[in-house]
Amino acid sequence: MAAASLSASAATGSLSGLRDSYGRTIHDLRVSITDRCNYKCVYCRTGELGAQYPELGIDEYLRLIKLFVGLGITKVRLTGGEPLLRRGIVDLVRELAALRTPTGDGLDLALTTNGHLLDGLAQSLKDAGLDRVTVSMDAVDPAVFERITRIDGSFAAVLAGVRAARTAGLTPLKINCVLLRGFNDDQIEGFARFAREEQVVVRFIEFMPLEEGRLWSPEIVVPLKEIVERINRMMPLVELPAREPSETARRYTFSDGVGEIGIIAPVTQAFCGACSRVRLTSDGKIRTCLFSQVEHDLYGRMRAGANDDELRAYILRTVQGKEARHHIGEPGFLKPSRSMVHIGG
Ligand code: SAM
Repeated sequence: MAAASLSASAATGSLSGLRDSYGRTIHDLRVSITDRCNYKCVYCRTGELGAQYPELGIDEYLRLIKLFVGLGITKVRLTGGEPLLRRGIVDLVRELAALRTPTGDGLDLALTTNGHLLDGLAQSLKDAGLDRVTVSMDAVDPAVFERITRIDGSFAAVLAGVRAARTAGLTPLKINCVLLRGFNDDQIEGFARFAREEQVVVRFIEFMPLEEGRLWSPEIVVPLKEIVERINRMMPLVELPAREPSETARRYTFSDGVGEIGIIAPVTQAFCGACSRVRLTSDGKIRTCLFSQVEHDLYGRMRAGANDDELRAYILRTVQGKEARHHIGEPGFLKPSRSMVHIGG
């Protein structure tokens, strides 16, 4: 395609936002900036495999993210692997915070982390322009927590990280907890108390078939309905209205208005129809769905010398082909070739 028409189609993308063929507006980009992780959470990793995919230079992530922002992405979430392991993350955040969308606004800049290194980094990240963090915690009981992460001292480190993030103003501070039946579902009530005591939003997430090993079954998923019933028995919950149509979590507060709980139910109440996300893996591949069977090698094109217009046109075409929905639990469901830690959750 000639450069002029590529520019025209890229410009169309930025004016009308980034849209897929189902009319969904894609404004949320998740970028994995390393495939390495310092935890070996038992439901996520086998513990035998390390990083599986390379990482790009910080300047390369920046160039690719800029292209997405020019096309209509307004929210960028850095993830991994474990993003805080990545040297240069504070500089990357500073550069991202200086970007402007086509309408002249700053990005909504967030980070998902296991929190292990957050105590030492929270203030620098905030000063560099990070808006919010989400910390993954799968138990509030220290012994259970360390059985899951398989790292001694992890609970104390993460709790310090959560508190440092709150002090630094990386708020609203969200805690994501993946629930597995018979494994950490005894933590539900403790998390409800934790949300109130630590002034954090605790979000329970249904376990998806995205683990390195083979653990997933429909029976291991703790469904939204059950979580709500259990917390309700402890203290009545009141559902909060959604703030935007693409919000993944159903939100609740307690009857006294103190604390917030969210439940993300991709398995029992899929929200694909309102999905606004695409992902960039640590090695620069676009994934249009967590469960995509194909990846789109954006970085490969960049390395081969494609110019920005050509890369923008490739992003537009790729986003156009975003899948309608996932097929978890259906006959013929195929697990994607990468697990969550290697996609970037
Ligand atoms: N290391 C960072 C962290 O711990 O937040 C970022 C990567 S981690 C893979 C991102 C999130 O994915 C974590 O909250 C983790 O609990 C979640 N996760 C991992 N495997 C999952 C699965 N099979 N289903 C649902 N969530 C999963």
